[in-house]
Amino acid sequence: MNSESVGSYIKSPNRRIAESLNCFCLHKARWVVPVSRHPIENGAIVTFQGKIIDVGPASELRSSYSAEIKDHGDSILCPALINTHSHLELSPLKQHFSPSNSFVGWVRSLVEARDQIRPEDWNPAISLAINEMRENGIIAVGDVGNLDVIPLLFSSKKDGTWPFSGIFFHELICPVPNGADEEIFFSAPFVNGKINEPMDIPGPSFHYSFSAHAPYSVAPQVLKAIKAWDQSHNMPFSIHVAESEDEIDFLRGGHSPLIELLKEKGHWPLDYDLPQVSPVSYLESLGLLDRHTVCVHCVQVDRDDIAILAKTGTGVCLCPRSNIFLGVGVAPSEELYAAGISLALGTDSLASNDQLSIFAEMASLSNLAPGLPPEAIFRAGTYGGAKALGISKELGSLDRGKNATFLSIESGPVGVKEVLEFLVHEGHSKVGDWVIG
Ligand SMILES: [Zn+2]
Repeated sequence: MNSESVGSYIKSPNRRIAESLNCFCLHKARWVVPVSRHPIENGAIVTFQGKIIDVGPASELRSSYSAEIKDHGDSILCPALINTHSHLELSPLKQHFSPSNSFVGWVRSLVEARDQIRPEDWNPAISLAINEMRENGIIAVGDVGNLDVIPLLFSSKKDGTWPFSGIFFHELICPVPNGADEEIFFSAPFVNGKINEPMDIPGPSFHYSFSAHAPYSVAPQVLKAIKAWDQSHNMPFSIHVAESEDEIDFLRGGHSPLIELLKEKGHWPLDYDLPQVSPVSYLESLGLLDRHTVCVHCVQVDRDDIAILAKTGTGVCLCPRSNIFLGVGVAPSEELYAAGISLALGTDSLASNDQLSIFAEMASLSNLAPGLPPEAIFRAGTYGGAKALGISKELGSLDRGKNATFLSIESGPVGVKEVLEFLVHEGHSKVGDWVIG
């Protein structure tokens, strides 16, 4: 063992103390899938005080570290999953809707149903949804909401045994900020071109940020203000983009049922001109696309849009099962991947999905896009999500210095070519144990 392999993480006096107390832990298994490099057969992960110290072949690490050994047998050790896009506050609407072929019809029903949720329904439904994420191997979430029920629940759910973390995005829907509907305008935390400071989420594991709902439901000046706030607070900017054809038609100035919806809500006419271009082109023209922006969905994107997303380094969060549920189409994920765009995965809410499982999203994506290699799909559900949420220094892959929280998944005998395929296709039914170092 040379000092380089321990790196700067544990300085040698501390290392001697750790070894004398025998408090390194070496987790060995048939497979270790770090994501940042190829799967390691008969691999191991060394942990110390909640952090990963080393990853490599078990035989090498066993001779390098005096450590307590935990043998996970034929399992696969892999990073915990990241759900880059969800709406936990819609959890009381689980199984409320059937799969639809009308995006605007679903939005209309959703708004009505959300208004009917009784205050006493929030807590049990959201607690169940969070438990579902835990059972499905999800460690962090980018959760989007218009209400403040989620930050309060996140604060009260900290039990120290499962280090759930992520970002709560307070989502703004603000089509006419200076128009007639002053009530809507001032009820949002956006006043006179500035965003009010968010409420605090106690503890270090959750951050509070702002997101925009969509290019068709937030006025351009508000979109820019939200992005500026996120930038100045080192937070990612998240927005639903190109989810449906209705959105494309609307922004291009054509006939779209979104116009009727805005009329019903008293938000029509707008006090600005529609851009007459695609949602991606529009966001680029506003200066909103960069490597800290996450465009969620990107179902209705063409070759020019993909080139813009690639050029600007913008991340894309795919939500394949939600897209199927709402009948909006299938994102061109193979083309997005081929263009070098960083992909993440999200479940969206239980109002457009029947489960909160990133493994299920992976299996669905693989079936929809057979040309996507399994390593790209598994990366989207782990490192891609961590990168999109700005938490890749702690999570998303098994690397030195990252959090020692990972999954042990029963695999049976699989070869190196099949291990990632197994995770993508079978992971959903095999989610094993949490390993919390
Ligand atoms: Zn969403």
